[in-house]
Amino acid sequence: MHSTPLAARLEPAAAADRNQLLNARRERAVPRGVASATQVFIDCARNAEVWDVTHRRFIDFASGIAVLNTGHCHPTILAAVERQLQRFTHAAFQVTAYEPYIALAERLNAIAPVRGPAKTILFSTGAEAVENAVKITRAATGRDALIAFNGAFHGRTLLALALTGKTAPYKHGFGRLGGEVYRAQFPIEHHGISVDASLASIRQIFLSDVPPERVAAIIIEPVQGEGGFHPAPTALLQGLRELCDTHGIALIADEVQTGFARTGRMFALEHSGVQADLLVTAKSLAGGLPLSAVTGNAALMDAPAPGGLGGTYAGSPLACAAALAVLDVIEHESLIERAKLLGDKARSRLASFATRTDLAPIGHIRGLGSMIGFDLLAGRGTDEVRQGGAAAVVQRAHRLGLLLLSCGGRGEGIRLLFPLTAPESIVDEGLDLLERALQAD
Ligand code: PMP
Repeated sequence: MHSTPLAARLEPAAAADRNQLLNARRERAVPRGVASATQVFIDCARNAEVWDVTHRRFIDFASGIAVLNTGHCHPTILAAVERQLQRFTHAAFQVTAYEPYIALAERLNAIAPVRGPAKTILFSTGAEAVENAVKITRAATGRDALIAFNGAFHGRTLLALALTGKTAPYKHGFGRLGGEVYRAQFPIEHHGISVDASLASIRQIFLSDVPPERVAAIIIEPVQGEGGFHPAPTALLQGLRELCDTHGIALIADEVQTGFARTGRMFALEHSGVQADLLVTAKSLAGGLPLSAVTGNAALMDAPAPGGLGGTYAGSPLACAAALAVLDVIEHESLIERAKLLGDKARSRLASFATRTDLAPIGHIRGLGSMIGFDLLAGRGTDEVRQGGAAAVVQRAHRLGLLLLSCGGRGEGIRLLFPLTAPESIVDEGLDLLERALQAD
């Protein structure tokens, strides 16, 4: 399917400069603070292909930042949303509850790697779910303080931003952030930080900054997303579980980016066998409709008093219908298996790129399943990363017709996030474009 599925709607004559015209309007109408990775305005999309307003086709290795594990416009998901559209679009769960919310909570409770029995509450965005997970742990423990990792990303609202472990560009100019947050070291081998050093950094926080009996929660991404697709080693997750149990601290797993088959398991935490107290999900949960969830141990989840949690749009019925269909699609199309298959394919292509002298030097190929990252290196045979090296490759990929995202604290990383429903031929085509984008300057 190479021609745009909605070609008839477009007017080819004016197509050529349409992106430019829209960019000019955007600059006048929208503040620069919300930056876009590309200059492209999307017109329509199907599965792993996107067409812009000039009819140009792109392969999508970004999935709307990990939202489209089930691809663009999956027919099963569209049909479920359309059915819900005909019934009602909004009610506010706090006014009149509705069955799709309950059905989704039941399904998440059954599959989330949390210490059961579990309960689930729904919200709209990842940041909102992160903040509510914190509220729940504070209510349950009667404590305030929080521990998060460097390189972490937990969102852009003031408390979520305080948990996020990267200053530029996220924190610049935004003044004092919410909450009492302490920063632990995230273990990355080639940064010289071991699991032992990471756990020691938490014990040091207990010694020098806050006693453990004042800490409500430790929050961690089982694979750091924006921070560079670095998996948290199993030994770290086990160590955190132990520390949390010793001191009565809640362990929050932020699976906003890792969830729903992306890593070759339904949730990335399952790779370690560790269970969280609370699991935060969003992004691919509802295949493109805004929905997030906190799933956690029922005793903790019931700590806030009635009325203490909620939100006007939280758990939108349209998004619930979509999410139920997403879970069906993951099962019926064996997307967990597909994440492994497509991930292995991409990993072996990247390994071959790493040996090529005609391509920009790359290394540190990492990740789980189809959540794969790698770094641009400063030179061949060195472990040193090329700071800011990802931007040129990403831009070249966009020019070649591949939507690609960078990651990592030093602009050194590139992440692959193709839909798990992508046909193998499309993934191959995207990897061919990536190979061309890596061709030396
Ligand atoms: N947590 C993680 C791990 C994320 O990757 C993100 C978004 N990139 C968020 C939280 C915040 O989600 P949202 O943008 O929906 O608020």
